[in-house]
Amino acid sequence: GNIYADEALWRSAIHGRRRSGTVTLRAVTGLLDHARAVMADALDAGGTSFDALYVNVNGASGYFDRSLDVYGRAGRPCARCGSPVVREDFMNRGSHFCPVCQPAPRRAR
Ligand SMILES: [Zn+2]
Repeated sequence: GNIYADEALWRSAIHGRRRSGTVTLRAVTGLLDHARAVMADALDAGGTSFDALYVNVNGASGYFDRSLDVYGRAGRPCARCGSPVVREDFMNRGSHFCPVCQPAPRRAR
């Protein structure tokens, strides 16, 4: 699943398709911290393992409803700025992000 990536990117305000070369070291460090925080929150919310949590999320558990900020929330307001969350198909999966908090990278030259 891509839940943690979507959530961590949102928390870090980084667009998922940004090339790694354009992300500052500080941003990457923040992303890793956020990824850890997302997983810690997930475990606190009752997941005994990430696999088990993922099953729960697919089954629309309480965790899905109350703890996720962007994943599965396409069209619903961003918890930070209120803009509708966007779901974008990307490499055979959906990626969820806020277009305002996580602006898409500029086109490569
Ligand atoms: Zn936002």
